[in-house]
Amino acid sequence: MPHSAIDDTKQILADLIAFPTVSADSNRDLIDYTKSLLEKTGARTKVIVSPCGKKANLFATLGPDIDGDIVLSGHSDVVPAEASDWTSDPFELREDDGLLYGRGTCDMKGFIAACLAMASHYASLDLKRPVHFAFTYDEEVGCFGARHLLEELPNFGIKPSVAIIGEPTELRVIEGHKGCYEYTTHFCGTDGHGSEPDKGVNAIHFAAQYITKLLDVGNEMKTRQHPSANRFDPPWTTVQVGRIEGGLARNVLARNCAVEWEMRPVDPKDGEDVKSVLSHYCDHTLLPEMQKVYPDASITTEVVGEVAGLQVVDENEARDIVCALTGHEHCEVVAFGTEAGLFQECGMSVVVCGPGSIAQAHQPDEFISIDQLSKCLDMLEGLSERLT
Ligand SMILES: [Zn+2]
Repeated sequence: MPHSAIDDTKQILADLIAFPTVSADSNRDLIDYTKSLLEKTGARTKVIVSPCGKKANLFATLGPDIDGDIVLSGHSDVVPAEASDWTSDPFELREDDGLLYGRGTCDMKGFIAACLAMASHYASLDLKRPVHFAFTYDEEVGCFGARHLLEELPNFGIKPSVAIIGEPTELRVIEGHKGCYEYTTHFCGTDGHGSEPDKGVNAIHFAAQYITKLLDVGNEMKTRQHPSANRFDPPWTTVQVGRIEGGLARNVLARNCAVEWEMRPVDPKDGEDVKSVLSHYCDHTLLPEMQKVYPDASITTEVVGEVAGLQVVDENEARDIVCALTGHEHCEVVAFGTEAGLFQECGMSVVVCGPGSIAQAHQPDEFISIDQLSKCLDMLEGLSERLT
């Protein structure tokens, strides 16, 4: 590892932590900072601004302008930090006994800092293959930035083949995770007197039938065989209703009801099937019944986020590269979602492997150990051989 890489990483991490890039707020200053650091090494950069203009992704490339090779990817946004729960300012890096504290240290500015510190090393090599850096916005609220970045890449003529997503895994090699799809389904009926339920459209009654159907589909999912999902716990696609809201009072028909639900597909086809069974049920059963009484009645499903799973596949170059670099012989699957599935959908081979522990992510006094950062630098340095 280059002599000063860990010092550079710590300095860059301190700078990154000082940008309070909570998902609700802008990340533009951080993106400008990473852009200028990478440009100093000679990287070609592209800033992809969000539709609202408040956020941006950065995509940068070192090495030849050819297809293929590796993307190092990390999200720039962090979850909120309640200062009163922290020992020190969450947006000021604090070092104590080999640990670096601050919001985002482990999830996942530590990885980004290590990538940025390694950029000057990569730039000093005679690169035969390109190495790309992808820093995204809005991962924590639905992976919107990564989706946007991946939509734009083909327009730039860039086609990487391997992606390493540096989410905190303590540098264990993760080759699969479930998807996470979240929805709110809104039922709109009419109000009326509780003594005459058939003269109105009680949104809660229809929402209840919808939930029953959803649970039936969920039970059917348990019977589906997905050999590649065996290592998940549980090894099938789950559905779950987490919140319902609607109605005014016991003796009034409910005009509105909202059902907040999610599913965690082990296979994209399950996700499509659940959605199509439910929309068929709404269009052919529930909605006609509602509209017989009140033609303006409606059912609409709002997509809160659809984060694709990372499918375990037999041939995975990214996994093989990272296993060789970290010395791990075994790969794992995890319960948490990442941007990895989106990269995989674009045809890349993908692995999740990064410094720090998911146990510290989203917590007060979030930290990463200097030891983990230094092991991450070793892994990134190991990529040099492949790139030259
Ligand atoms: Zn993360």
